[in-house]
Amino acid sequence: MRTLALSFALSLMALNSATAETTQDMIERARGIHQRVITVDTHVDIPPNFATDAYDPMKPGPRGQQVHIPTMIEGGLDATFIIVFVGQGPRTTAGYAKALSDSFVKFAAIHRVTADMYPDQIELARTADDVRRIDTAGKKVALIGMENGYPMGKDLRLLDQFYDYGARYFGLIHTGHNDLGDSSVPNRRRGEPEEEHGGLTDLGRQVVQRLNELGIMVDVSHASKQTSLDIIAESEAPVIASHSSLKGIYDHPRNMSDEELMAIKGSNGVVQVVAFDSYLRAVPQGKQDAIANLWKEMGIKSFGDFRKLAGDDLNTYDAQMSEIELAYPRAGVKDLADHIDYAVGKVGIEHVGIASDFNGGGGIEGWSDASETFNVTLELVQRGYTEKQIAKLWGGNLLRVLADVEAHAKSADK
Ligand SMILES: [Zn+2]
Repeated sequence: MRTLALSFALSLMALNSATAETTQDMIERARGIHQRVITVDTHVDIPPNFATDAYDPMKPGPRGQQVHIPTMIEGGLDATFIIVFVGQGPRTTAGYAKALSDSFVKFAAIHRVTADMYPDQIELARTADDVRRIDTAGKKVALIGMENGYPMGKDLRLLDQFYDYGARYFGLIHTGHNDLGDSSVPNRRRGEPEEEHGGLTDLGRQVVQRLNELGIMVDVSHASKQTSLDIIAESEAPVIASHSSLKGIYDHPRNMSDEELMAIKGSNGVVQVVAFDSYLRAVPQGKQDAIANLWKEMGIKSFGDFRKLAGDDLNTYDAQMSEIELAYPRAGVKDLADHIDYAVGKVGIEHVGIASDFNGGGGIEGWSDASETFNVTLELVQRGYTEKQIAKLWGGNLLRVLADVEAHAKSADK
């Protein structure tokens, strides 16, 4: 009798150890998955001094620089879209010329890194196949996305040049309306109304058509809802939202409504959920006030201004920001995963991806720079996503869209 009870207890223990996964086992399993899947972050900004001594991608540097080749290696981040972003300025000949020149500075910086500075470490991908080939070769992958169509002015021929320079997605609009359509966030300081055009303009339509012909993914992040829906209706190829979260979880103008989400699914595209504190959940009023006071104190008017701080000013800013962050922690990886869960629930695993917006205001508790990228995978594993699903979220879907857009371009008459 005693022996029987003992053997029963023993077999129960064996059963338990065979079915229940310890936390350590799960972490190990997540590490394996993270290593095997290709991780693509679709939005990493760069300042104009990228690829100089001030921001050497091999030397992790000061606060505000969240992505470097060593931190990508540490965090298992395989590929990043590096962004050629130019803020919206005056729609004048001089304004367009300056914006174009500023965009070329960023294209040149990315090419300098991949062609001259660190070609053994990182390579520029121009196709979805390139991404897989470069990853297999053990190098980091750089892709180029453009944010804001402002640098093209009204000259559609420049899109061909951007393609030649390697741009593989193009966001038509940033903060403030432009010649291509309305922004989700009008420039209030310039006194802009909620809408200027009521959606995508005729020039914007021609841009979408040309992007389709060239094989550049069309990006609706930052566009107003109507502009997004117009873009998706106009595009014959799948459309992406390169860095946006979901209005269904938190109603922020930069997030995608369910209607946009469904339309992106309808285009066979993908929404890249972004790790951006103020898009993931409401920022406490106390924190907003504290940051507003600090900005006023330091003479900062927009996000880009804090890069101009140096020496004591920068130290003061950093110290005070750290205090604010300590009092009011940012959203975390769980908040990001809540948005991912929501999007997956609405449109399915095939149409959801991940972006950081590092160097552009992105970064959350647990994924504050490239070195912490594994934490996102760990959270997804904890929530029960399989390796196959995680591979789709982390880049498989985005690469499918890029390949579709390439195939569409080949079939189009350029
Ligand atoms: Zn952005």
